[in-house]
This record gives sequence, C-alpha cells and structure tokens, in this order.
Amino acid sequence: MIISSVPAITLNLQHHSSNPHSTSNDPYLRRNVISLLLKNRRNPKHVQSIHGHAIKTGTSQDPFVAFELLRQYCKLNSIDHATKLFYYTQNPNVYLYTSLIDGFVSFGSYTDAINLFGQMVRGHILADRYVVTAVLKACVLQRALGSGREVHGLVLKYGLSLDRSIALKLVELYGKCGILEDAWKVFDEIPERDVVASTVMMGSCFDCGMVEEAVGVFNEMRSRDTVCWTLMIDGLVRNGEFNRGLEMFREMQVKGVRPNEITFVCVLSACSQLGALELGRWIHAYLGKCDIAVNWFVAGALINMYSRCGDIDEAHVLFDGVKVKDVSTYNSMIGGLAMHGKSIEAVQLFREMLTQRVRPNGITFVGVLNACSHGGLVDLGCEIFQSMKRVHGIEPAVEHYGCLVDILGRVGRLEEAFDFVLRMGGQADDKMLCSLLSACKIHRNIEIGEKVANLLSEHSGIDSGSFIMLSNFYASLGRWNNAAEVREKMEKRGMIKEPGCSSIEVNNAIHEFLSGDLRHPERKKIYKKLEELNYLAKLEGYSPATEVALHDIDDEQKELALAVHSERLAICYGLISTRPFTTLRVGKNLRICADCHAMIKLIAKITRRKIVVRDRNRFHHFENGDCSCDDYW
Ligand SMILES: [Zn+2]
Ligand SMILES: [Zn+2]
Repeated sequence: MIISSVPAITLNLQHHSSNPHSTSNDPYLRRNVISLLLKNRRNPKHVQSIHGHAIKTGTSQDPFVAFELLRQYCKLNSIDHATKLFYYTQNPNVYLYTSLIDGFVSFGSYTDAINLFGQMVRGHILADRYVVTAVLKACVLQRALGSGREVHGLVLKYGLSLDRSIALKLVELYGKCGILEDAWKVFDEIPERDVVASTVMMGSCFDCGMVEEAVGVFNEMRSRDTVCWTLMIDGLVRNGEFNRGLEMFREMQVKGVRPNEITFVCVLSACSQLGALELGRWIHAYLGKCDIAVNWFVAGALINMYSRCGDIDEAHVLFDGVKVKDVSTYNSMIGGLAMHGKSIEAVQLFREMLTQRVRPNGITFVGVLNACSHGGLVDLGCEIFQSMKRVHGIEPAVEHYGCLVDILGRVGRLEEAFDFVLRMGGQADDKMLCSLLSACKIHRNIEIGEKVANLLSEHSGIDSGSFIMLSNFYASLGRWNNAAEVREKMEKRGMIKEPGCSSIEVNNAIHEFLSGDLRHPERKKIYKKLEELNYLAKLEGYSPATEVALHDIDDEQKELALAVHSERLAICYGLISTRPFTTLRVGKNLRICADCHAMIKLIAKITRRKIVVRDRNRFHHFENGDCSCDDYW
C-alpha cells in the first residue's frame, strides 16, 4: 500500500487503527472512511490505500463502506479490485450485488454480470427492481435470450412486472433477440405509454428489421422529442432505407425539432451510404448553424462522409482540423485513405498515430491492412499483421486474417494464402474464400482455385454474392457444367442475385439506376449517350469482355447486357446533366466488373472528365484513361 504518498489520509486514520481482524460498526469510523473516499475518489491508488485502512480499522465489512468502496472501484474501472472486495465481504446484500453487476456491465463482462445475478438468486437474496434492471441490461447487451427469459420469470414471480424500467428493458431484450411478438406483449402491458416507452418499442421493431411496424409506432405517437426522431432516422439508416432517413430529417426540421449531435451522425451516415456529397456538405454547414461542436464523434462521422462520398481531400482537411484526435478519428481517416488506394499515406498515418501514443484497436488494423492490400504492400502488410499481437496485444480476428489472405492473393502468393485459410479451419468466412478465389481467377491458378471453390461451396453461410463469384470462376475456365450446377444450387435455396444498383447525385437529388433500367424520365437521352460512347470507345480499341457475363446467351445479347450495367447508366446521366469537366461521383452496391472498368477508363479519356466510382470494396478514380487502382481491385 502506498499510504506514505497520501499523508493526510494516514494522519486521519492513524489513531483509529486497531486490531486488523476485528469488524467495527463505529459510525464515526464509517463516516471518516466514506468522506475520505469521496475526497480521494479520482485516484485508484488513494482508493486502494483507503481500502487497506478500512481493513485495518475493521470498517471494511461495514455495508455502507463496502458499498462505497466497490462503487468507486467500478467507477475507476478497477473491476478486479471490485470483485476481490465483493468476495471478501461477508454476506453481501442486494446493493452490493447491484453495484458489482453494474460494474461488470460497464466493463463489458456481461456473462459475469448474469452469473453473479444467478448466484444471488441461489443465495436466496431477494431481488429488487434495481438489480433486475441491471441484470437485464447485461442480457440485452449479450443478447442472452435464455437468461433474459429466466429473469422475466422471476420478475413475474416477484411481482415486479409493472415496473416501467424493467418492462422497457424486457421490450428491448426481446427486440434485440428478434422475438418481436414477445416485445409487443410486454409493451402492451405497460400502463402508461409515453414517448419513452414508444421509442423503446420502435427501436425493437427496427432491431427486428420490421421497418413498417416501427413507422407505425412512430406515427401513433402524440408527441415526439429529439431522441425519438433521432432513433427513427437511425433505424431507417440501419435498415438500409437511407433516402427515407434523410426525408425524416427534413420533416424533423419542418416540425421545428432541434437535432442533436447523434442525429447529425445518423444523417451523415445516410449521406455516406448514398454517396450524397452535396447534401453532406450542406449538413456540415448546418451543424455550425445549430451550434453543434465538431468533437471527435462528429468529426469521425464527417471524415467518413467525405471519404465515402469520394472527397478524400476534404476529409483530410477536416482530420487536420481536429485538435484532440482519438483512435476513432484515426480509424476513420486510415479507413478512408485505404478505400481511396492511398496506401502509403494510410500507413504513414498509422505510424503517426503510434508516435502520438494513441492506442490502435482492431478496426485500425482492418484499415491499415486493407491499405497494404490495395497498394500491394506485401512485406509491410505481413509485418504489421505480425505486430498486432506481439507489439499491440491484439489477437487477430477473422477480418484481419481475411486482409492477410487478400494481401498474399493479390501478389499471387496463393499457396501461402491458401495455407492460412487451411490453418483457420472452419473459421474462414466466405468473404475470405471469395477474395482468394478472385485472386486465383486473376492469376489463373486452377489448382488452388478448385480447392477454394470446393471449400466455398461446402460453406454453410454462403450468400448470393459468393455463389455468383463461384459461378463466374467456373465460367472463366469454360467449365459451363459446374457454373450451371452452382446456379442451380442457388435457385434451389431460393436465392436471387442481388441486382446491381448505381446512384449519382445531381443537383442535390439522388438518381438510382438498376441494370438495363428504363424507368428514368430522361432514359432516351441516357441511352443515346451510351450508344455514342460505345461507338467512340470501339474506335479507341475497346472490345467487350463477354466472359464475365453468363455463357448461355449469345454474343450480341451478352454485349447488350454488359453495356447496360447500372454504373454506365449513372455515368451517362451525369454526363448529360452536368457542365463539362464536372467530376462525376457514382456509387455502386456490387463490385465493378472488368468490362465496365475498362469502359469507364475510356469514357474518362473521351469526355475528359474525372469519374469517381465507389464499388462494394473501394474507390476507383478514373482520369485520362487510367484508374487509381492500377487495375487491381
Ligand atoms: Zn459491369
Ligand atoms: Zn479501378
């Protein structure tokens, strides 16, 4: 104990030291210890010293002292000390249990929290509403449906089911666990349905992906506050309804409800997903008008928005302007640079972060490893991967292994990459297998490609994107039977190919196009432009790569199917509706195909435009016949 460093405490406690093993209920001693604690609570060492003295003076078993000590340990994140104190306390009461359960929850040890509650129940200590709310919090965060149901049973047994905060936690729990029916049941029994209760129910609907139900709850509410509006926008954005999220934001303004910083972060996220740069800029300006400070939280969202909308330079300006940068600020910027293929800059920023003594986390490494992968920085990537555990104490997760496999695959070190996949056993996910398969296709390695394809087709969680990848792989080898088999399997499982969809922002409106889309009011002009570009591109030596399309349609049709991939329509619309030399920014939900990539390079050259395309994986900056990805994506 470093009691010598806190002389004031020593002085106060000295003349009360008595037999260390005795317990004391002296109210004077108790008051003394508690007031010392309150005065010295910010320093963990002081709290430990006071704890030591409480033991010596025999006050540590006093319920009030134990409670206060435990509370302070939890506040200081010293969960180990808190746990020790708890287990040294004889007959801990319900308050002490509540305090430690709360501590476990804020420390992220949800299972420990749930187990401790079980221990309390088995010890026949009567639960009150506070401890039940605390354990339900843990159940919600852990998505522990089974334990949650048991707690619900106890709630009914103890007659606590009318308690509002318990009922709300139960609604949240069932929503998070996807049992909307049960969430409704609890919600229906809440006597007073105010804005808070309805907001929780709305959140549960969104958690279960039931957007229309959530909107229904929202529409029935008589009054709506900022929290409620924000949750509505967030729910829409989380469920992929970005445009509706933005509409809601406009409606919120019309109704005169003041947005807070979380509202702005949600709206900025919608803009990033849609690639709505102009709107994003406007929201950035509007932030200032609402007197919302650009702290690290908002700055991260703005950096994400600018980089995901294709304006990496503006993202950098913002990043430089943030005075106190934390790990998430760095993560946003590193991730943005990686997406834009600015690999060296991303790695440099990572190094700067380390010299600034900002501790990286798992997300940081996904960003910097992605950068290495996009830039073909193999040795550096491997080195950084190795350093994760050795230097930074972070255990690599599946996504980090995925990056490594990607890095090795890109440069054709396919054996090593496959070795990694094998070593991971069942943990290798289909994203990882797909990236390796794509590498095998590019490097024309049939042997490993086949092995990967086998693993992929046996994979249980395989999605439609992976099926398409697999079918394309076989098609590229001319193995039509296998390709057809894969598609058959896909049909049997009732999966449909996710339709390609591209969007472009023109005059603050988002225009969306599907493959071969004929719905746009200016379709005639768009297709005329497309025809003209096809003609000019052929003069430049472009010949459509028909291999990427499916084999069972004839060549002319194939050419047609390629020619109307959604990104081309979006680009043509951009060309006819903006001034010459304006940069076009297009977002696409799938990976751009090789043929479109070749074609857009030529379009950029012919029209002398900069064209920025964001596909599922990264950004392509097309300019003067070249792409920033150096044809590797
Ligand atoms: Zn295409
Ligand atoms: Zn590219």
